[in-house]
Amino acid sequence: MPTEEAKSVRKCVCDICRAGTDLTTMQYHHQINLFLSRLNEPQRRWYVGLLSQQPDSPNDGELSRITGLDEKTIRKGRRELAAGLADLPPNRQRQAGGGRPAAEKKARG
Ligand SMILES: [Zn+2]
Repeated sequence: MPTEEAKSVRKCVCDICRAGTDLTTMQYHHQINLFLSRLNEPQRRWYVGLLSQQPDSPNDGELSRITGLDEKTIRKGRRELAAGLADLPPNRQRQAGGGRPAAEKKARG
């Protein structure tokens, strides 16, 4: 029975992983999907958009099979990155000067 984690991580369906011929590649694709499973939607497309620009990256169709993201979505991520994520308000980021909340110290004694 698969664990919670195994269920939430996508299984790559690229030719290599389906054939099961190249352990290194299979492991790499699993790690990509493991990482993606921890990201939110925009972060996923930015990461894959970034991957797609690596020198020996698979093409978008291949990346789509690996990650389950649409080719359109991958292109969108790449476009957004190229534009410096300008259209995306950083509303989820920490407020400037926020930092981590001051720890409440328990008075002792
Ligand atoms: Zn694969």
